Amino acid sequence: MQAYVIGSPIKHSLSPIIFRYLRNYFQIDLNYDRKELQRSELATFFQATLKENCIGFNVTLPYKEAVIQLADHVTDNVKKLNSLNVIQIKNGKTIGHNTDVIGIENTLKNLGFAFKGCNVLLWGAGGSAKAVAYVLGKNFISEVYILNRSNRSNDLANSLQAEFPKTKFTVITDVANIDKELHLTINTTPLGMTGKESGLTYFSTLKSINFAKDAIAFDLIYTPLETDFLMTAKSCGLKTVNGLMMLVDQALATFEIWFERRIEKSALRQEIYEVLTGILILKKLGKNIFLTGLMGSGKSITGRILSELLNFSFYDLDALIEEKEKLSVSEIFKTKGEKYFRNLESEIIAHKAHPAKEVIALGGGSLTRENNLTKIKQENLLCYLNVHVNTLLHRLGEDELSKRPLLSSLTTKEREEKLQNLLQERQGHYKKANLNIEIDNQNPTDVAFMIIRQISTIKL
Ligand code: NDP
Repeated sequence: MQAYVIGSPIKHSLSPIIFRYLRNYFQIDLNYDRKELQRSELATFFQATLKENCIGFNVTLPYKEAVIQLADHVTDNVKKLNSLNVIQIKNGKTIGHNTDVIGIENTLKNLGFAFKGCNVLLWGAGGSAKAVAYVLGKNFISEVYILNRSNRSNDLANSLQAEFPKTKFTVITDVANIDKELHLTINTTPLGMTGKESGLTYFSTLKSINFAKDAIAFDLIYTPLETDFLMTAKSCGLKTVNGLMMLVDQALATFEIWFERRIEKSALRQEIYEVLTGILILKKLGKNIFLTGLMGSGKSITGRILSELLNFSFYDLDALIEEKEKLSVSEIFKTKGEKYFRNLESEIIAHKAHPAKEVIALGGGSLTRENNLTKIKQENLLCYLNVHVNTLLHRLGEDELSKRPLLSSLTTKEREEKLQNLLQERQGHYKKANLNIEIDNQNPTDVAFMIIRQISTIKL
C-alpha cells in the first residue's frame, strides 16, 4: 500500500517517520513517501494516485487550501476551515479531511485542559489560527482574544463568532486590552521557528498578562523544540507544550481514516512523540552514533535503519577495513593477525570520532582498546546493543557462524562457550556506552526506534 505527504518544501517533513513507526508497530504493508510538488502538478498527482495502490496522502503547506477543489468530496470541517490536510482514497474517489483540528483538540485534552469557561489568547490569524479558534469555539471556550499584526484578525473573529455564538471572539492589538484572567495562550505565528525571525521581543508582553494557576502555553511550532514563545511562557510559570503532539495526533487520526479502524492511542502517541523528539535532538546535535555489541547483535542492520531515519550516512567498520585492505576480515586475521586488524580499527575510529552526522557499526571487539572507547565518547554517542548469547546463536545460524573468524572452526558447544567468554571479557567496555539497549525479541527497526526514544529521555 502506498501513501504520501505532498507540499513544498517537503524534505524536512517528519510524517514519513511517524508512518514508518506505525508500519512497524502494526506490521502493515505501507510505504509512505515525501513528494515535493509544484502547484501546477497537483491535479496530475491526484489522477496518478488513483491509478496506483494508494490509500491516500497528507497535504501540507502551501497546498492545504489549493487541493480542496481537486477532491471529489470534502468533510464539513474542511468546508468550514477552508483547509484540508488529508486525502483518503476510497472506491476510486478522493475524500478530503482535516485532522489538524483533531491534533489541536487532542493536544489540549491530553493536557487536561478544561475548555468550558476558560479564556484564551491566540497569537496570529492565519490558516492554523482558524483551526485553533474552531476547536476553541466548538469546546465552549468563554472568550478568545485574537492578537495579530494585521487586521486579518477581524475576518477570523467575525466568521468564528457567527459559527460559535456561545464563545466571545475579541480582536485586540495589545495585551493590555485583556480584561480577564487567562487559562491558555497559543502561538500560531511562525515567529521563533528555526530559520525565521526571533519571537523574543514580540512575545515579551506575555510577562504582563494575568494568567491563572496551571495556565498552558501551546506553540504550534516544533523546531526548535523549545521556542521563544515557550521559553518566555515558562519564565512566567506556565505549563508549556510544543507542536509535536499536534503533529502526532493528526497523523494518528489520518491513520484511522485511511485504514478505517480505531486504534488505542494513549501509549502509542507518547512513543511516537519520543521518537520525533529524539530525532530532532539528534539532528540538531549532529553527533555520530556508534553501535557496539557482540557479533550478530544487529549493529549493521540497525545502523542502516537508524541512518535512514535520521538522514545520516552509514558506515560499517569491518566493511571500511575490508575496503582499505582489499581482503575480508577473516583473511586479514589469518594472514596478518589480530593485532594488525585492531590497529586498523583504531586508525579508522580515530578518523570517524568527529561529529559528522554518521552512524557507525563497530566490530564486536573494537572497544577492547580503552583508547577507542575514550575517543568515541569524547564527542559522540555510543550505544550498546545488549543481547543474550543464546539469541545470538539462534539469529546467526550456521552459515553466518562459519564466516566469523573467531568462531568458524569451533563446534556448537565451543561456540556458545566462546561467545559467553567474549561477552564476559567485553561487557565491561560495552556497558560504558551512553545507551544500553536490551534487544532480545526486538526486530532491527524496533531497536533503531528504541535508541531514538532513549535519546529523548537522557541528558546529553
Ligand atoms: P499562515 O501564514 O496562514 O499564518 C501566519 C500568521 O502569523 C498570520 O496571522 C501572520 O500575520 C502571522 N505572522 C507571520 N509573520 C509574522 C511576523 N513576523 N510577526 C507577527 N506575525 C506574523 O500560517 P499557518 O497558520 O498555516 O501556520 C502557522 C504556524 O503553525 C507555522 O509556524 C507552522 O509551522 C505551524 N503549524 C504547525 C502544525 C503542527 O502540526 N504542529 C500544523 C500546521 C502549522 P498576517 O495575518 O498579518 O500575515
